[in-house]
Amino acid sequence: MDNDHIKLLQKLVSFDTVTPASIEAVRYCKELLDSWGIETYIHQSGNVPNLVGYLNRGSETLCIAGHLDVVVPGNEWTYNPFELTEHAGKLYGRGTNDMKGPLSSALIAARDFIKQSSNLSIIILLTGDEEVMTDNGMKSLMEYVNQRYNNFLIGIIPESCSPRNSGEYIKVGCRGSINVRLISQAPQGHVACTQNNHLHKFINTVNALVNLRLDSGNNDFEPSLLQLTSIDVGNNARNIVPGNITAKFNIRFNNIRSSAELKQIVSDLIPEYINVDISTLSEPFIGCSNEWQKKLQTIAEKSLNKPIGIGTIGGNSDAQTLHKYMNVVEIGSPLAQAHTTDEFITLSDMDKLRKLYYDVFVGLSS
Ligand SMILES: [Zn+2]
Repeated sequence: MDNDHIKLLQKLVSFDTVTPASIEAVRYCKELLDSWGIETYIHQSGNVPNLVGYLNRGSETLCIAGHLDVVVPGNEWTYNPFELTEHAGKLYGRGTNDMKGPLSSALIAARDFIKQSSNLSIIILLTGDEEVMTDNGMKSLMEYVNQRYNNFLIGIIPESCSPRNSGEYIKVGCRGSINVRLISQAPQGHVACTQNNHLHKFINTVNALVNLRLDSGNNDFEPSLLQLTSIDVGNNARNIVPGNITAKFNIRFNNIRSSAELKQIVSDLIPEYINVDISTLSEPFIGCSNEWQKKLQTIAEKSLNKPIGIGTIGGNSDAQTLHKYMNVVEIGSPLAQAHTTDEFITLSDMDKLRKLYYDVFVGLSS
């Protein structure tokens, strides 16, 4: 095996693509795909550059989709987050795990696959804002793509998504997400003479929400879970009863109840004096048929010679949009290494994923 997937990762990490992705990174990928004989087009939507690459070889089209943007590095990195650094078998840099590493392995696997004769067409979609998911990324790109290309066989997203080792999990859907914000307002007062401290009552409401047991999950999904993410009173003094209190929650929910039912359950627990704002960010979905799940599992198990898990554990991704157009799965690096300080992927995982993606592409075309 050559090390072109490592060289590509090194190049991709060198672009600062904190959301949205930089046009330089997109141009680099465009030129790379051009050099492989793939027709490319930069689809700019708002401030987000996205890339489409298409190679026509037959009526059915394999889709490989990924994102070039990354989250902010944050502090206390040992290494320069925008320079790939190898140390003791690990490759450090922002995006190495999520998802420039798996994506580099998948793109080089696609290049090798193109060299083989096959009547499977290929479409490559690279988006620039997956980490914030505005309408300018995959949503806008698919509106463009769907008017020009169709007959998608399946979509493979080389995403950071595995709750186990690299490549040993096929993510086939995702729980939905709801944000809840509570606001209580009362006159600020002196602790010595305030009769009804609304913070006391507010905490009871927070407790009622935190203690909610929504369901115990089903075959496809983990249990729905409410998490308290912030309580803010903005008070640094010891002798003031605060005037404004805000609390924020997020609910990750499965398909046992609809988002409307969950909103009702939450609203019923909120007393009238508290303002509540509930917004649905995404609905739960299964993005891949059982038949395709089994087929991919068989190919992957044969490639890695290991049992491969299937499930919906983990966070949201561009699969949220892509599944509306085709069967789609995510296969990639361990999610626990995403968004971390000193983010890394191992050299052996880069090789392992490149081989796996190649075997999947070949397996799908036969
Ligand atoms: Zn990602």
